[in-house]
Amino acid sequence: MNSPETSTVPSIVARTAADEVNAHLASYPDFPKDGILFQDLNPVFANAAAFRSIIDALVSRFQGQFDAVAGIEARGFLLAAAIGYAADAAVLAVRKGGKLPGTVLTEEYDLEYGSARLELEVGQLPAGSRVLIVDDVLATGGTIAATARLVERAGYSLTGVGVVLELADLNGRSRLGAADVHTIVSV
Ligand code: AMP
Repeated sequence: MNSPETSTVPSIVARTAADEVNAHLASYPDFPKDGILFQDLNPVFANAAAFRSIIDALVSRFQGQFDAVAGIEARGFLLAAAIGYAADAAVLAVRKGGKLPGTVLTEEYDLEYGSARLELEVGQLPAGSRVLIVDDVLATGGTIAATARLVERAGYSLTGVGVVLELADLNGRSRLGAADVHTIVSV
């Protein structure tokens, strides 16, 4: 059975978003397969103060720089919906392959474990709209790089990338070119 390893952050008056992530993040060795240390952000989302803190941090970092926020299925949807609401921005759903109707753009990519396909419906925003991409974890960067290609192929301008947790050893940033990448915590 996998048991979570949680870190302890001392109680202080004003916790930063990074403090909140470190306080609530749960890590599961060998999930979903041997050799993977799964970083579970659901406990961060499940704490109201922590969730508000990470949303506020991502909104303020990119304030005034985006017209829409693109969330990557599935945990990115949680972030994108809240950021879109807080920033009065449009929300785009970047979905796994085969789930979207109509004319869609498709990108294939490799995962830390396996491979996958992401899709985006065309024509949802005016050409040149500024789009912020958000997701929970930046691992190898394949998922976000594929999403960035979808955003650009759809005719939008990539504002940057907002991520809650970066797995620095996997160097996912190197796959994101010159994109403005902001992560709340890097481990
Ligand atoms: P990647 O394309 O390798 O950057 O993988 C990013 C996507 O896979 C994100 O949507 C994460 O939710 C998920 N992911 C990859 N590695 C992990 C991990 N070690 N812990 C939790 N989620 C992960």
